[in-house]
Amino acid sequence: METETAPNATAAAGRDFVREIVAADLAAGRHKSVVTRFPPEPNGYLHIGHAKAICLNFGIAQEFGGRCHLRFDDTNPTKEEQEFIDAIQADVRWLGFDWGEHLYFASDYFERLYDWAVHLIKAGKAYIDDSPLAEMRAMRGTVTEPGQPSIYRERSVEENLDLFRRMRAGEFPNGARVLRAKIDLAAGNMIMRDPVLYRILHAAHPRTGTAWCLYPTYDFAHGQSDAIEHITHSLCTLEFEDHRPLYDWLIEHLPVPSKPRQYETARLALAYTVLSKRTLTKLVSEGHVKGWDDPRMPTLAALRRRGVPAAAIREFVRRIGVARANSVVELAIFEHPIREMLNKSAQRRMAVLRPLKIVIENYPGNGFEEIEAINHPDDPAAGTRKIKFGRELYVERDDFMENPPKKFFRLSPGKEVRLRYAYFVTCREVVKDAAGEVVELRCTYDPASRGGNSPDGRKVQATLHWVSAADAVPAEVRLYEQLFTRPDPGADGDVFADVNPKSLEVLGDARVEPALANAAAGEVVQFERQGYFCLDRDSTPKSLVFNRTIGLRDTWAKMQAKGG
Ligand code: ATP
Ligand code: MG
Repeated sequence: METETAPNATAAAGRDFVREIVAADLAAGRHKSVVTRFPPEPNGYLHIGHAKAICLNFGIAQEFGGRCHLRFDDTNPTKEEQEFIDAIQADVRWLGFDWGEHLYFASDYFERLYDWAVHLIKAGKAYIDDSPLAEMRAMRGTVTEPGQPSIYRERSVEENLDLFRRMRAGEFPNGARVLRAKIDLAAGNMIMRDPVLYRILHAAHPRTGTAWCLYPTYDFAHGQSDAIEHITHSLCTLEFEDHRPLYDWLIEHLPVPSKPRQYETARLALAYTVLSKRTLTKLVSEGHVKGWDDPRMPTLAALRRRGVPAAAIREFVRRIGVARANSVVELAIFEHPIREMLNKSAQRRMAVLRPLKIVIENYPGNGFEEIEAINHPDDPAAGTRKIKFGRELYVERDDFMENPPKKFFRLSPGKEVRLRYAYFVTCREVVKDAAGEVVELRCTYDPASRGGNSPDGRKVQATLHWVSAADAVPAEVRLYEQLFTRPDPGADGDVFADVNPKSLEVLGDARVEPALANAAAGEVVQFERQGYFCLDRDSTPKSLVFNRTIGLRDTWAKMQAKGG
């Protein structure tokens, strides 16, 4: 008979390996409750890969009735900024998670970490090495050869203590010496060959200012911070697997208040996307994009600005699951929940992105009439709105062809189509400018087809969206494509050579129905037949700016399949 003692039995059922471990630890009483943490380094904005880590850590805490800390891993002041600290908090909140009062900074532990370094020195388990960095690296050996001891390895405890104190006091320049753990220079795992625990860095820190010129390495700060916070399950990505013996060694040799354990999971990689913070930083600083929240970026701030719902990101993370092997996730898997959710939530509107004027010659006078349009086809509660139909309208330039191929069912000379919610119209004449460009279509309408059907049962093969020229509002529409031209950016060496020069197309002369003038920044609507769009924060009441969140179908995948 099975017994189930995990606090949340349903949450534990049929889950990924991390949740299995957590459930088993709780069931066996190894922990009373689960404590996880999300530990970003504030050296950039959070991206979709971080979303995976956030959902995993906060998700586990929620599901098992534990808690999740937000801890800034702020041990490298040269790259860290307050702007990033603020943005990271805003992004975690937006994604739907709350750390409550458990906001921590590794820098809050600097004093304790220093004391523990002293503890190691006194135990003969750490020493100051004055070797230049290159020499130290060369002496670490290779996978097949053991490392060589530095001439400083056997320094006395007294000398080590004295030097470490003076390093802290600021007596030495950057790089003059480091504190190394004394572990095993012949270890098969290179990480264990006397790893660096402290380095000298004369740099102001966003939180501790100039109090320190000596900073702990990731390896020394991370596990000990976990221990201070009584983290039970310290989740990180696979590249830290080799660091786990060091994590355990430090926990074992220090008088830490708890014994956390590290577990590694696959890192999210997404096709056509770069998630390396170093590259993202350069994309911003070198002007390939307009900032960290440029909607082409994979950051959470950019996805939010583009109109991607937080719930769609959480759903994406749920679908990809948690594995122990790295793999590249197809874009379609990321886009699917976005379309799914927006299809449900976004109200429908009409907008013409590349306008072509049409004049309905037989429309009486200069008047107009009001027509009812449905806000959401699957949700009657979303109601209807009134739109104006009149003598002058705009349709999409792409919906007209003067000399159409056989399968083109939209407007062309002599052809009749339906204007959505309104009437059948027929193109009678094409007006061109001096350069021969089509500037206007003269059309007629069938007054009996009001509402979109003809009483004589006549059929048309296309329904076009439109706006009325009299009251449509001009808008700028920004269309985004993938920021990179290939699924594996940088595979040939230079990631910046793979930046897509056509990743942004700005349409400066779009026309949208007047209801959109009252949209709120961030609100996503569906432009019928075009895709999902959201009002950008660059928008003002006088000049509207819309971002395309995502197209209606996966046109990108189709283009790739066609080799175009
Ligand atoms: P860097 O690029 O500077 O090495 P990072 O991407 O590891 O940084 P951190 O701020 O250190 O960023 O990451 C915070 C947490 O998010 C870590 O636990 C890290 O493992 C996790 N994380 C980062 N990138 C991904 C990713 N692509 N997939 C899953 N988890 C990730
Ligand atoms: Mg990192």
